[in-house]
Amino acid sequence: MKKLSAIGEFGLIGLLRKQFSGSRRRGRPEVIKGIGDDTAVLPFHKDKYLLFTTDMIVEGVHFTKKSPPEAIGRKAMACNLSDIAAMGGVPTYAVVSLGTPARVKVKFIQEIYAGMEHLGKKYRVTIVGGDTVRSDKLIINIALLGEVKRKALTTRAGAKRGDWIFVTGPLGNSLKSGRHLSFTPRLKEAQYLVQNFKPTAMLDISDGLAADVGHILEESRVGAVLYEPKIPCHRGAALNNALYDGEDFELLFTVPPASGKKLLADKRFYFIGEIVDRKNGLTLVDRRWKSRRLPFKGFTHF
Ligand SMILES: [Mg+2]
Repeated sequence: MKKLSAIGEFGLIGLLRKQFSGSRRRGRPEVIKGIGDDTAVLPFHKDKYLLFTTDMIVEGVHFTKKSPPEAIGRKAMACNLSDIAAMGGVPTYAVVSLGTPARVKVKFIQEIYAGMEHLGKKYRVTIVGGDTVRSDKLIINIALLGEVKRKALTTRAGAKRGDWIFVTGPLGNSLKSGRHLSFTPRLKEAQYLVQNFKPTAMLDISDGLAADVGHILEESRVGAVLYEPKIPCHRGAALNNALYDGEDFELLFTVPPASGKKLLADKRFYFIGEIVDRKNGLTLVDRRWKSRRLPFKGFTHF
């Protein structure tokens, strides 16, 4: 019997995707996008879709016993918000599930919820329910709904050869620096982009730049060239941190060159590369114009 560690997180997602591939036909054929993007996309309204996503954070993996409780709650909400942003959407309602040991202080739990509510409020998200259970370690799961105008919907699947690739901020060292607990989900930037530039593909960087570019390449059936000197790294972060660390929660998106040229002047967005033919895979070009192939790898849970 194969263990999870042998197939990795994305191997598992691939298996589940296969397992459920027929279920749409049998159950709800109207599903617009199921497994395989930042959120599911569901029918809703004549000019809007419903977005549905969930993210879980676990003690010892995404935060430690020493992380401040408000920051833990904030992060649980922020990573869900980031997924709604990545689709070009606006978040609406959340349900929250908490697993906790019985010895944890009540105030600590209240502060976790205060952290998520405080951030949610900024984006008009209302927590409308949830569940609490006993567990050996703290676990927080949020399921979040959102909505998106049909013409604003941006998935991982629309990147075209010739498109330019951008990110919304510097990358790398998110866990070590503590930024993973305090990042701003890029909802504002995403709204600006979908209202003015119609990105062809978008996602949020949670697994690391190389892996997340890889997700767009796989879903869009294209290749990419990244220009090493253009990749913005946080102070103290090396190129490999930007490529493989993950948990940056910046948006990665592609636009046609005409839009890309306009975005070059905007300091909120960093041009990092171009979409090329699928057969070229993912390549990195360094300062001396030497290129090397990159594997689509990044952070994986198993
Ligand atoms: Mg995501």
